[in-house]
Parts: sequence; structure tokens; C-alpha cells
Amino acid sequence: MKTSLIVLSFFILLVGGCAGDQLVYQVESLSVKEDQENRIIDYKYTNFAQSRNEAQDYDSMKKMMIESFGDVSPNSWGENIDGVITEINTDGKVVALTFDACDGTPGSYDEALINFLIEAEVPATLFIGGQWIKENQEVFIELANNSLFEIANHGYHHKPLSVSGATAYNISGTKNIEEAFDEVYQNQILIHELTGKYPKYFRSGTAYYDDVSVEMINELGLKAVNYSVLGDAGGTFNKNQIISSFKTAQAGSIFLFHMNKPGSDIARGVKEGIDLLKEAGYEFVQLHEYDELLK
Ligand SMILES: [Zn+2]
Repeated sequence: MKTSLIVLSFFILLVGGCAGDQLVYQVESLSVKEDQENRIIDYKYTNFAQSRNEAQDYDSMKKMMIESFGDVSPNSWGENIDGVITEINTDGKVVALTFDACDGTPGSYDEALINFLIEAEVPATLFIGGQWIKENQEVFIELANNSLFEIANHGYHHKPLSVSGATAYNISGTKNIEEAFDEVYQNQILIHELTGKYPKYFRSGTAYYDDVSVEMINELGLKAVNYSVLGDAGGTFNKNQIISSFKTAQAGSIFLFHMNKPGSDIARGVKEGIDLLKEAGYEFVQLHEYDELLK
């Protein structure tokens, strides 16, 4: 591992001054190798000046996380453990709709759903996974440029966030603090490269965390955000079940839906649900507007 790091640094130093396509490709090949070990960020979208600075920040932040949390054992594991945000602390008639884009399966973009939100001018927070971004890069940039949507981080490889390899829904979580850091921060870097902004909110793949991971997220300046209303149960709800979930709305509810399940009932259910809430006098808000009141 050390040797590959040195080789990678050598390449970056060697070609740091000239960002020709051919040279980018050389580093890209190296970083892909590294990525199989989930250790090094993917340089695919980065120019050299940026990658040198960000690699230094990345490595030093990772070192800090290992120093702070490397020896700490987790005490809790779940979706709604201490420190994970599930709602907005308000009496106002506002709700936040959040939509997850999970993995990079081709064709996993629910365009009908997003187009409806755009036409109806309903703001939302989109939790986007790194592999989904890579598969849908142009769409991602369009969404990020639309002020109706706030971009949040849904993990680089869509893994439960653990420091001990705990599993959720048969999906193995990250194995240690290094992997947990990579899962969060590789996607921070990717989103920053494509949008110029670092997200403020994180939701792990499967929405499971342990307490050490949640502390790490906070230490990195992020907030872990789950939900108070399960809107589509991983995309398995039919239209009527989705509408029923909207009927449970309360002041400050955070809804969880998916935007990577085209062909499901989600678009149709969300459309009717939003109409119901509008009639009931609810407003739709993005998380950052209520950042101080998230709990
Ligand atoms: Zn997901």
C-alpha cells in the first residue's frame, strides 16, 4: 500500500505542471487500482493542481479521524441512534422531502419524478451516491444547478456506516474508521469537483450508522440526516401506500423517498401526496433553511 502511494505521489509530482489529457489518463489508471482497496480518492474528474491540494487535505483529515476515533469501539447501531437527525424542530407547517439516489445501476434515474418536482416547483434535498453520480454525471450537474434542489451526500459506495463491519439488510458496512472516512469523503470530493460545493448533510447507504461514525461525520462538519416518515420503503410501496405516508405528515417531518426507481409508483404517489399536503397548507423546504432546527 505504501509503495502504491509513493508511486501515485511520484506521478502527480512528475506531471503536476501540465494537465494534458494523456497524463490525466495515467493518473486515472493508477487511482482506479487504488480505489479497489477503497483507499485513495478517484482523480478522474480532477485537474492536477486541485488533486494535489485535495489529496493533501484528504490524507491529513483521514489521519485526524484515525487519531480521534481509531481506538474507539461502537456502542450503538441503527437508523435512529443519538446524533442522527430525523426531523425539523418547528411548529410551522413545513416538511422536507428528501430523495435518495443510491447506486450506479444503469437506467436508475426517475426522470418522471424529478420533472414533476420541477414543474410543480417543489423544492427538495437530494441525497446522491457516488456511483449514481458517475453513471449520471450530466443529469447530476443539471440537478445541482437547479436551485429547487439541494445536493447532499449518500456515500461513495452506498454502504452502511460502521467502524466494525456491521451489516444492515445483508449489506456489509464499512470495516473501520478509514473505510468510513473514505465512504463519506470520497463523495464529498466528487460532489465538490462537479459543483464547487461541499454538501452539509450525509445519509449512509441503508441509513444505518454506529455512534462512532456519527461522531466522525460531525467532526467533518457534516450532519447525519435520516427521516421521520418512510415515504416509499425502499421503493416497494405502491401508490396508495405512498399517499398514506403523506397523510402522516406533521410540522417538521422529514420524508425519505427514492429517485432511482423509475417504473415504480413513487412519481405518481408523490404527485398526489404533494397535492394533499399543499391543500392542508404545508410548505416544502430544504434542510439548510432549517439547519439550526434540525434534531
Ligand atoms: Zn440508498
